[in-house]
Amino acid sequence: MTTVLVTGANRGLGYEFVKQYSENGFSVLACCRNINEAKELKELAGISNNINIYELDVSNIKKIKSLSQQLQNEKIDVLINNAGIYRSSNVGNVDYDQWMESFKINTIAPYQIVENFLNQITHSDLKKVVSITSKMGSIDDNTSGGSYIYRSSKTALNSMMRSLTHDLKNQGVATLTLHPGWVRTDMGGPGGWIDSFESVKGMIKQIDKLTIDDSGKYLDYAGKSINW
Ligand code: NAP
Repeated sequence: MTTVLVTGANRGLGYEFVKQYSENGFSVLACCRNINEAKELKELAGISNNINIYELDVSNIKKIKSLSQQLQNEKIDVLINNAGIYRSSNVGNVDYDQWMESFKINTIAPYQIVENFLNQITHSDLKKVVSITSKMGSIDDNTSGGSYIYRSSKTALNSMMRSLTHDLKNQGVATLTLHPGWVRTDMGGPGGWIDSFESVKGMIKQIDKLTIDDSGKYLDYAGKSINW
């Protein structure tokens, strides 16, 4: 069975990834920060036979390492770094602790997860590493300024993914850096242009199409290329 691991799986896009991959027949390793509070995810896992839930606070390296140890015999075909936070910031109003926290969750954790699960990824058939970034991480697209914390954490995530593309190619691992669109989730708010279903359906399509030969792309959910 093809296996996908998703972080931040209890709500928003992460939950929708779990739902759609489960419906597509994947074995889903659904990771969330607090299982006790993941009511909807537990209900979904209860009516599906291919979803297993694991507790993972991605900002805690010890938890990443111990989950990797627990899942050492799994083959992870698709790893999706989805968990993320948005902390607002503009000139004169930047909380430095939140900036550090955002780098920890949005940038460093995705790297640590790949590094610690690399063995499970390289032993799988598909060998795909995906990070959910944002168009707000594009330097080229930054025509309005602001959002220092979020933008910089996603730009750094993009840079990290670019390096992984080169460094993992000889192990057959393909990478994809995906912008989900502006989506109506807790983070995106009610004004988003699309819902989670449409966003995740599109992103899964891009992940399906990914091969080692086109590794390293930065795309939106509809497959449109974004300038770095
Ligand atoms: P969301 O509804 O706010 O959900 C965020 C998810 O990340 C939650 O499951 C949350 O878990 C999890 N998370 C946060 N910190 C975590 C930690 N330390 N450990 C484990 N999980 C943690 O956001 P979303 O819209 O689904 O966003 C998903 C991804 O898409 C993010 O990377 C975001 O930056 C990106 N994105 C979203 C949009 C949009 O319009 N929605 C646009 C561009 C990019 P808890 O419930 O425990 O907090």
